[in-house]
Amino acid sequence: MKLLDIIEEVKIGKRINREEGLSLLQKVELLDFGELANEIRYRKNPKQQVTFVVDTNPNYTNICNIDCIFCAFYRHPGEAGEYTYSVDEMIRNFKTAAANGVTTVLLQGGVNPALPFDYYLELVKRTIEEVPEVHPHFFSTSEIIGMSQASEFTIQEVLRKLWDAGLRTIPGGGAEILSDRVKKKISHLKGTSDDWLNVMLEAHKIGYKTTATMMYGHLETDEDIIEHLEVIRQLQDEYHGFTAFIPWSFKPGNTPLHKIIPTYASSTRYLQILALSRIYLDNFDHIQASWFSEGKKIGQVALHFGADDFGGTLYEENVHAEADFVNKTTVAEVIQLIQDSGFTPVQRDTLYNTLKIFEKAEAM
Ligand code: SF4
Repeated sequence: MKLLDIIEEVKIGKRINREEGLSLLQKVELLDFGELANEIRYRKNPKQQVTFVVDTNPNYTNICNIDCIFCAFYRHPGEAGEYTYSVDEMIRNFKTAAANGVTTVLLQGGVNPALPFDYYLELVKRTIEEVPEVHPHFFSTSEIIGMSQASEFTIQEVLRKLWDAGLRTIPGGGAEILSDRVKKKISHLKGTSDDWLNVMLEAHKIGYKTTATMMYGHLETDEDIIEHLEVIRQLQDEYHGFTAFIPWSFKPGNTPLHKIIPTYASSTRYLQILALSRIYLDNFDHIQASWFSEGKKIGQVALHFGADDFGGTLYEENVHAEADFVNKTTVAEVIQLIQDSGFTPVQRDTLYNTLKIFEKAEAM
């Protein structure tokens, strides 16, 4: 199909297929891509508003036995700098975050086989009981698979027990690129694309809401990116369990993969992928811009390339920091950045419910 015909199909709301998505990614001029993605964004969410969440992203352990070569965060047991915090220590961390206005705690860690499953259940239960101001958005698919392997429970049983403890949402980390060819090279101990999709499927069946993510800018091809979008779109058709899609670029600092991929993907690439995501993922309500990963200016530009959410404040962040990539903000700055981009900032919770609308120049 000719490029102009594909664009017309997108404009009338027709779902595009893999080949059409690939044509858009490879052939559409950048600004046209943004305009097309924005058309879809406003069709889905006509308000001139951009949401954000006040969140923090602490880690309970950096001990991990998965050895992903794109990761600078993990340590082996006994290695300098390894840590595992007690539930008491994490609850103290969450209380401090809550006192600073945090409503979402996005908690992830390494896959630490020494931790008993009860540790995770206690973490969820006590967060709900002792820090009710925050919503626990805990544990990537890798950790959930690790919990299953370290206990006698299946993935379904692990998810059900976490649900019964009070967990309701799960972050979408661990997907990287859903291509087994790439996964074999960058994270061969992490499991397959189907493993990630299966945890998400089982979670959505129970009623969890999750995000979907993609880390690009390493060994993937354009076709891998399209396949990633295709399989998460197929899964979304089943239970509509994904709240948002969040792409970001690989950060090579201090990682073994740095030797092969020494630099970040370009901002142009980010905006292309973001626009394509908005167009391809016609059953996703939200696409998240990443001021943190791509920089504040590109985060603002992303709001004109199909994104309707500015992500979180990420008060604490350790994973990218280990790759020498640090970016900080405040709620006041997020509000200002969104307003300067021409939108009304709306503070939301983890499930995208509105908490506060910041009209005009109002700040917190
Ligand atoms: S990305 Fe996660 S699973 Fe992989 S090595 Fe790092 S902490 Fe472990």
